[in-house]
Formats: sequence, C-alpha cells, structure tokens
Amino acid sequence: MTNKELADIMFPDVVHDVSYYENLYPERNLPEGAVVSRFAPSPTGFVHMGSLLAAFIASKVPKETNGVFYLRIEDTDGKRSVENGVQGIIDDLKNFDIEIDEGVISETEQKGAYGPYIQSERKEIYHTYAKHLVEEGLAYPCFCTQEEIDNMRKMQALNKERIGIYGSYAKCRFLTNEERIEKIKNGEPYIVRLKSPGDFNKKIVLNDLVRGKIEFPENDMDIVLIKSDGLPLYHFAHVIDDHLMRTTHVLRGEEWISSTPIHLQLFQVLGFQAPKYAHLGVIMKIDEDGTRRKLSKRKDPEAAVSFYHEQGIPVEAVKLYLMTIANSNFEGWWDQNPTLGIDDFKFDFKKMSLSGSLFDLEKLLNISRSYISRLTAIEVYEKALVWAREFDVEFASILEKYKDYSISILNIEREQKKPRKDFEAFSTIKKNIWYMYDEYFTGNLTYDFGKITDKEEIKAILSTYLNQYFNEKDDKETWFAKIKELSTKIGYCSDMKEYKLNPDAYKGSVADVSTVIRVATTTSSMTPDLYEILRLLGKDRIEKRFQKFI
Ligand code: GLU
Repeated sequence: MTNKELADIMFPDVVHDVSYYENLYPERNLPEGAVVSRFAPSPTGFVHMGSLLAAFIASKVPKETNGVFYLRIEDTDGKRSVENGVQGIIDDLKNFDIEIDEGVISETEQKGAYGPYIQSERKEIYHTYAKHLVEEGLAYPCFCTQEEIDNMRKMQALNKERIGIYGSYAKCRFLTNEERIEKIKNGEPYIVRLKSPGDFNKKIVLNDLVRGKIEFPENDMDIVLIKSDGLPLYHFAHVIDDHLMRTTHVLRGEEWISSTPIHLQLFQVLGFQAPKYAHLGVIMKIDEDGTRRKLSKRKDPEAAVSFYHEQGIPVEAVKLYLMTIANSNFEGWWDQNPTLGIDDFKFDFKKMSLSGSLFDLEKLLNISRSYISRLTAIEVYEKALVWAREFDVEFASILEKYKDYSISILNIEREQKKPRKDFEAFSTIKKNIWYMYDEYFTGNLTYDFGKITDKEEIKAILSTYLNQYFNEKDDKETWFAKIKELSTKIGYCSDMKEYKLNPDAYKGSVADVSTVIRVATTTSSMTPDLYEILRLLGKDRIEKRFQKFI
C-alpha cells in the first residue's frame, strides 16, 4: 500500500493540500530588508522581563525596517496555559507601548491576513503538513504505548546510551504500510513522528545573529509532530507558523538554542527556507551571597513586567534601561544625543551580550528618576494621575481636586538646570508630597526636629517667626534675609561659615532654625525648597500647622 493511502487513512479530515496554504499566505510584499518578527509566548498570563526584552527588540527591528511585528499565542501545551493568560500578555505589551501590527489583540479578536495567530486554532493546517510528510515518507504513525517508551528509556539509561526514539529504537519506523493501516483500522491509538533523516555523527551549523556560528550534531530523533490529542508539538508548530506567517527573524531566549537543530531540520524536511535566528542572553541577577542566577519569576518581583506598571515606573524608563541591556553602546550614544530617543537608535544584534546581562533594579530606578526629572510638572501630574486612578483612587481624587496646586507642588525645583530627582516612580510621589495636602496632614503626626529638641524653644521660634517675620508677599531673598534676622535675634548664627568657626558662641545656626519651621509645616526635615512650600501653603495653613504642633 502506498504512503498516500496511509496518509488518507490517518488524516480523513484534511481537505486542503499544502499548496492551498502556500497560496493563502503568500510571500509578504515588503520593501527589501524588511524584518518580520514575532513574540510567541505561551498563554501563561505573565510576561517575564527576559521575554519583554525579546519582545521589545522583536518589535523594534521591524519598526526600523518597515517590517511587521506580530503576536502569536503558543497554546499547544495545556500545562503552560492559565485562565485569562492571553489577556495578561496583551495588557503587559500594551502597558509597555509595544505595538503589534498583527496577531492577537484581545481574548476574542485577532488582526492580520496571516492568522489565525493562536496555535490551537491552526490544527487543520498542522494536519495538512503532517499528512504531506506522511505522503512523502518523512513521517509515520507510532503505536508505542507510554509504558513501552518508558521501559525503553530505562534500558537506554542502564546501557548508558543516548535516550530517545532514534535508529533501531524507532520501532514503528520499520512497520509496513499494511501493518500500519491494519493497526489504525483496529483502533490502535497513535501519534505522528518525524522520520528523521539526520545523522548524529554529522554536523549542522546555526548562524546565530547574536552568537555567530554554532555547530550541533544533526538531530536523529524521531520527534513527535502530532500528539495524541491531535495538537502539534511546539517544534512542528513553530516551523509551520513561522514559515506561513512569513517570518524573517526569530528572536527568543537562549534556552531555545538546543532545540534549534530540530527546527532547522524541520524547515529542511518541509522544504521551507529557515528564518534567521537571534538567541538573546538570559537576564541574570546576583544574590546577596554573590551567586549569579537567572532572574526568577518566583523569587524576584521585578521579574514580572506587571511590577513596573503597578509601581508606576514609567514605561520609557524601563525601555531605556532595556536598551542599555540590549546594546552596550546605547548609553554612550544617548549621552551624546540627549534630545533623541530609542526610536532614533539603531539596534545591532552584534552588540548584544552573550553571557546574559545582569539585572540592576537600582540602575533602572536611577534612569527613572532622571527621566521623571526631565518631564514638565504637567506631564508628571498627568502620568501620576493615570497611575493613581488605577492603584490609589484616594490620591487620584486629591490630585483631581487640587489640580493647579498639585502641579505647582510638582514644579518645585523642576525647571532648573539640575532638577530634583526625588521621584523614582509615580507610586512614590504621594510619599514625597503628602504633607502638602491637609487631608493627609491630620491625626497623630511624628515630627523629627533633629538638633533642636526643646519644645519651648521650638514654640518660641515658631511663634516669633509667624508673628514678626512671615509675610506671604516676600520674594525669596527677603524671605531668607528674614529667617537670618530671626536667627540672630534669638541667638542662632545666621552665617554658616562663621558658625563652623565658632560653634560654641551660638545656640545653633540658621539651618537649625529653618529646620524647625520646615518640620513644623511638613513633619519632615528633608523637603524641597522651603520657601516654595511655605508660599504654596499660605499663611493660614502655616499658622494652623504651627498650632497643631504646639
Ligand atoms: N512558545 C515559546 C515560548 O514560550 C516561544 C519560543 C520561540 O519564540 O520560538 O517561549
């Protein structure tokens, strides 16, 4: 009996042949050099920083070349799927402004002419190609039970042989088509295996865009193409999808390198041109005891992309940081071109680190501080409000209620050559400016006065200041001159240099006096410009706050 007869019996539902799909998904009509790339996660509901880096670069390169970036969901392994897993991924990408040209855009919608972009919806395509391989004598049904396979593996382990279905261990390879058809007719369950043409003693070469040439032994395992549930194994699905979606570049984590010989072989067996591969180094972390390990979803909150969204760390800062990880020359370039952005920087595969980059949250937060410090007060206000609406509704309503006032607060020490860098994330703004709002300035507050601890002295400073010196209309110089005057009057040195030379001649210095005023109005001895704070609060509130303390 012929392979064709076997294939027809194995795949009674297949209605098209492979040329149908080749025509349905033709070569893309794109400019020369355009890159078609994809992000192809399993629907685990979670994007890891390492995958975000891959997705970010996979989306950047097509943008640079007028290509296409698409999102494909690889859900053929039920164990790796969680409920609402697709939405989690879409949200993470959206929160990071990683736009997709094609693919899955919501739990129920997809866009693009090369879909469906969810593997479980592509069953008949995989069956068509599997059938084609059976017809060509390049795939066959395998009737081995799990028990038989387990026993064989045990024996291979005992004999210190390579483990797997290859050579003479690929028992069902040697059945005749008559035997196969009879078994199928008798209702024996089977899966579909590749009849690997590979020779373990020969080499194949992967030309990795990041790592250069890597040599592997050819794959000689008769890997599973279609599982008993009718769905393909990941390897087979990847090759068919990347071919039919006309992918030019596969960017993924280095954990996939060892599977690449199988992928290259499948491209060859199916007669497809293989895409270019770039395997990115994993993101590492150093533990307190100095050990280097993979950034872990379980141990490190910062491994989850949602962490940045929840903390209100600006997307731009995370992207800038990722770019410094991705290309070692980015930071230098950005220093020289401070007015340009990531989109102006040309990514280079050759400048990627091979060994895996260290993840440095402190550095990311520093970038975030600088980034936020360069925004206008209105921009900070708007972004903080967007964050608060999702994560701190009460603060959002305060920001809305006092819009102009809040913008003025955020503007303190902002429009200057070296703006303050006190916000590392939108979630830390409240912690820094809460005292400016009466709504928060209530209840039992703890004041930290520092040097001057005598309550009577503090009261005296506050009341003298308020009654004899404070005037809302003063400009900054006058205001400061008055604080100095007050200091001198009550026995504090108004000149810091003089104070340092003669500390014993005074009760303290002008700095101690202004600390008292600062702490009584805000509870904190670390605030931005006191003059601005007092001006914004206004006399009535200052008086109430002094009284509250007293
Ligand atoms: N589905 C694979 C994953 O979960 C994708 C591997 C690839 O990009 O080829 O990472």
